[in-house]
Amino acid sequence: MTTIPASRDELPVAVIGAGPVGLAAAAHLTDRGLPFVVIEAGDQVGAAVSEWGHIRTFTPWRYIVDPTAEKLLAPTGWARPATPVPPTGAELVEHYLRPLGGLFGQRLRLGHRVLAVSRAEMDKTRSIGRTERPFALRVRDAHGAVSELRARAVVDATGTWGQPNPLGASGLPALGEDAAEEFMVGPLPDVLGRDRSRFAGRRTLVVGAGHSAANTLLNLGRLAEQEPGTQVIWAVRGASPAKVYGGGTADQLPARGQLGSDLRTLVDSGTVRLLAGFSITALEPGPQTLTVHGQSADGPLSLEGVHNVAAATGFRPDLSILAEIQLDLHPALEAPSQLAPLIDPQYHSCGTVPPHGHRDLAHPDEGLYIVGVKSYGRAPTFLITTGNEQVRSVVAALAGDVAAADEMQLVLPQTGVCSVNDTGEDTAATGGCCGAPTGPQELQVPARAHRALPQGVPALGFATGSGGGGLLAELVVAGRAGRAGRAGSSRCCTGA
Ligand SMILES: Cc1cc2nc3c(=O)[nH]c(=O)nc-3n(C[C@H](O)[C@H](O)[C@H](O)COP(=O)(O)OP(=O)(O)OC[C@H]3O[C@@H](n4cnc5c(N)ncnc54)[C@H](O)[C@@H]3O)c2cc1C
Repeated sequence: MTTIPASRDELPVAVIGAGPVGLAAAAHLTDRGLPFVVIEAGDQVGAAVSEWGHIRTFTPWRYIVDPTAEKLLAPTGWARPATPVPPTGAELVEHYLRPLGGLFGQRLRLGHRVLAVSRAEMDKTRSIGRTERPFALRVRDAHGAVSELRARAVVDATGTWGQPNPLGASGLPALGEDAAEEFMVGPLPDVLGRDRSRFAGRRTLVVGAGHSAANTLLNLGRLAEQEPGTQVIWAVRGASPAKVYGGGTADQLPARGQLGSDLRTLVDSGTVRLLAGFSITALEPGPQTLTVHGQSADGPLSLEGVHNVAAATGFRPDLSILAEIQLDLHPALEAPSQLAPLIDPQYHSCGTVPPHGHRDLAHPDEGLYIVGVKSYGRAPTFLITTGNEQVRSVVAALAGDVAAADEMQLVLPQTGVCSVNDTGEDTAATGGCCGAPTGPQELQVPARAHRALPQGVPALGFATGSGGGGLLAELVVAGRAGRAGRAGSSRCCTGA
């Protein structure tokens, strides 16, 4: 039975999802002394990160660990790992998320999935008096029992891992994709570890042009050297894979530069067969293998005898749990509409991230915030650092500390390598739109200046992708959040 406390303010803030950003939100709520509960579908914290535990991130520890989380962990004897080497997903969970989750005791409910969020006794169509109503969350526990939880505010940090983009270029699944499930292996299978036997001596198609595809291809390349008969085909929609190859030795992120160079070597050696300009139209499952039909520059093309398809085509947010919430989302990106123009990958290939917090993340349903990678909707440029700052601002706003909520300090890594032209040349390094001065610097720039870049102010940023991040120089962007001065876009790296 649910007990409704007398005052709405006595209700907890419900944080949905115990990934890096949900747990950072919990740390800030603890620090502010606000009651909260964290509801996590997995049986451990960092459940999504664990699924790509074998992948090494590009981001050093100091940009991953939330400063307030670090402060709370310190009395337990915990110290941020001193190594400059970025963690794998597994290390991130083991050395940070698990100890952090341990601080929250009974307030962390593992094995509980939020099925839906609404306003208590008010459907989406009713607006009058809406803000006075608490939120109502339908939650299913590990035994299948469904209950309702009331909350004064909701922080949705459920990520996007559970909803990969389909293979079809139209945004819809390719014809037959749904029936081909047994051949689909997800974007980041553990090719050299637990999933090895599935790939050894077999034919795998990797689809996508990001770091997830690159990681999977490299691991398949290594497997092909060890296991005769292992075949690897790489399909990209674009005419060239130059963007994935990246800046090579010019890349200020050595790990990322190496990834691109190694991939280029695999393609040049013939270990990986590249199909550029290939759009998948249909999948035809057979008893043992799959035939993949598509359109290439030379006309229709079919790939027969495919055992596995790794669709590394990005992710999209699952908005179904918020169907009864009044949301304000950008029609294309499915990110909060104030935030979307600032992160739109059509214009922000370099991932310039202006300070943003509670105001940019707000919706008509006051008190509900989508944060973390889900807040970026379909844009693939999210970084944990940004999520930490989002929840700091959101929690400050929930605590009524508007000044702190509006005063943002976003400490960004800066690579200076954020744009690659069609031949793989780094345009930023040669002073392109994202060209940045080398070496550490500190700039105090109003948030609005980063929304509409004034002439002569370089757009300092970093290539993020899903595995982005930087480590060489540091840029402190400070500013007051506000709706005034919001730009339609700051078209970094497009020349537009
Ligand atoms: C392979 C890969 C590499 C990356 N590398 C980097 C990097 O180097 N640097 C960087 O900054 N970022 C990186 N990212 C991007 C991003 O920072 C991570 O995806 C990060 O995990 C996002 O954190 P999050 O807390 O927003 O979401 P998630 O980590 O996805 O956590 C969401 C949590 O919510 C839970 N959940 C989902 N639905 C429900 C529900 N209905 N009810 C209850 N719980 C639910 C999930 O189980 C999960 O635990 C990478 C991403 C990927 C996929």
